[in-house]
Amino acid sequence: MADTEKDILRGGQFLVKETNCEDVFTPEDFSEEQTMMKESVMEFNDREIIPHKPRFEAKDYALTEEVMRKAGDMGFLSVAVPEAYGGMGMGFVSTVLTCDYISSGTGSFSTAFGAHTGIGTMPITLYGTEEQKQKYVPKLASGEWFGAYCLTEPGAGSDANSGKTTATLSDDGKSYKINGQKMWISNAGFCSLMIVFARIEGDKNITGFIVEYNGENPNGIVLGEEEHKLGIRASSTRQVFFNDTVVPVENMLAGRGEGFKIAMNALNVGRIKLAAACLDSQRRILTTAVNYAKERKQFKTPIADFGAIKVKLAEMAASAYAGESATYRAAKNIEDRIAMREAAGNSHQEAELKGVEEYAIECSILKVAVSEDVQNAADEGIQIFGGMGFSEETPMESAWRDARIARIYEGTNEINRMLAVGMLVKKAMKGHVDLLGPASKVQEELMGIPSFETPDYSELFSEEKQMIAKLKKTFLMVAGGAVQKFGPQLEEHQQLLIAAADILIEIYMAESAILRTEKNVKRTSEAEQSAQIAMAKLYLYHAVDIVEEKGKESIISFAEGDEQRMLLMGLKRFTKYANYPDIVDLRIEIAEKVKAENKYCF
Ligand SMILES: Cc1cc2nc3c(=O)[nH]c(=O)nc-3n(C[C@H](O)[C@H](O)[C@H](O)COP(=O)(O)OP(=O)(O)OC[C@H]3O[C@@H](n4cnc5c(N)ncnc54)[C@H](O)[C@@H]3O)c2cc1C
Repeated sequence: MADTEKDILRGGQFLVKETNCEDVFTPEDFSEEQTMMKESVMEFNDREIIPHKPRFEAKDYALTEEVMRKAGDMGFLSVAVPEAYGGMGMGFVSTVLTCDYISSGTGSFSTAFGAHTGIGTMPITLYGTEEQKQKYVPKLASGEWFGAYCLTEPGAGSDANSGKTTATLSDDGKSYKINGQKMWISNAGFCSLMIVFARIEGDKNITGFIVEYNGENPNGIVLGEEEHKLGIRASSTRQVFFNDTVVPVENMLAGRGEGFKIAMNALNVGRIKLAAACLDSQRRILTTAVNYAKERKQFKTPIADFGAIKVKLAEMAASAYAGESATYRAAKNIEDRIAMREAAGNSHQEAELKGVEEYAIECSILKVAVSEDVQNAADEGIQIFGGMGFSEETPMESAWRDARIARIYEGTNEINRMLAVGMLVKKAMKGHVDLLGPASKVQEELMGIPSFETPDYSELFSEEKQMIAKLKKTFLMVAGGAVQKFGPQLEEHQQLLIAAADILIEIYMAESAILRTEKNVKRTSEAEQSAQIAMAKLYLYHAVDIVEEKGKESIISFAEGDEQRMLLMGLKRFTKYANYPDIVDLRIEIAEKVKAENKYCF
């Protein structure tokens, strides 16, 4: 563990600082304890979730609740909870890997698990008073109680601070009365505790409350019917109506008007966990697809031997690999930052809050990238199964429907894209990440005469690492140019923000895959990591294409004349390989490896 602030990259700094491969954490670095946890969670998934998939698809909500209780008995609900409140107090990486390996059986269970352990419990562990934590967290950690999180309303979705639910203080000052309507509330059907956000007397910001729920004594709380959803069918999702629901004043979370901050910070944690929750689905989709493709014959040939199918297997593997690389890299950064703050005297609560907040940019990046990758994987999975992929009898159909929600909840992908860039600009303005210095250097480089020398690229990844450095320059050139042109009005140019976010996302994901592979090559060999090298190169190749496309549309939009020509020339320079990788060969190598092992094997 790095032990000084200097040693740990700050959130967003990956963009302007070079990272050594030794400084990134990879899934191959799991400790013995983490490996045991992973195996135990996988075994639970194989035993308690996967065999019951048809029941989950048939909207057996009671099964979801039953399996949640079993997860509680195994301790899985308490991984992130400090020991003082009945939890296991394991580190952030363990929390993330539990979400990862418990999630692939069905989106119904992973949503229930995520809503309970994340947004249903974390607001209390992060913001609760000692009394609130003592009273509620042990019950949530053990699975005696389940939690739900009530933020969204019919008129307040992405604009979460605009909710109309009110909280009115009683005349004796001892309680609040909550009135309002919440919708899309996961776990509503079986929860005993709700984190509810409401507005006090027209305050600018909402306030968070811990609200107990007991069906026999409902205290004005009425649950709507279960929603009929495209996917995650056995995840309980209902509207919740509050009619003069009485909540003691001591159940306010943090202070008055602090609710929006709580909601946003709970979502930061939720976002990286959601990314993790999409990873094992990708692995399982690929494993199922490769097994089918090897068995299914057309034209007297297993379809897995067709180049058209190999492309799909290879691309699915490469995106899962990049997703894993980036998720665990960020998870360990967060864990280290928490440890660093604790060592500096912060309470665990404060350290965790600040640790996760620091990497909010990376959490948004991961949420967007991995939720889109799992959707693509499921889509190609259906295609590999052909007509059978469209049938409820094969697993691809539900995988595809379940994957779809990940792009919507925990902040839609549009909102997360804009947040990632917005937060980066804010960090730069606060001086936490120096974008201005590196951006001016890029400007100077653009004005100067380019070098025509071809560097020595014989060392593994030397060209790829230089390409990453050039993609970072592209971000600084494009985003810097847009900031110069529009200043604070950039917020109104959403297409530019989204293009910049796409560039940022590709840089983080591609760099993470390369650094993980480089680290593993150093401790094994290039031969042993050959398919991983191919995946890192393949991922980067696509990243470069995306950066070029997004850079071009942005430059054409905000620059004109000579400036436009200069920036487009810069873009060409920054996205040009000296030696283009042969991605046809790379894909064949990756697909053959997956076929030989019958699974996602990295
Ligand atoms: C199955 C399910 C479970 C859920 N669980 C919970 C839960 O447990 N608790 C909870 O509180 N909520 C929950 N939600 C709600 C979820 O978080 C919201 O659906 C989500 O935040 C989007 O809000 P919305 O549906 O109102 O869409 P809207 O905000 O209306 O968005 C519609 C579209 O407009 C876009 N858009 C909105 N604002 C902007 C903008 N400023 N700029 C550009 N584009 C914009 C969005 O990206 C989206 O594409 C759940 C939702 C579902 C479907």
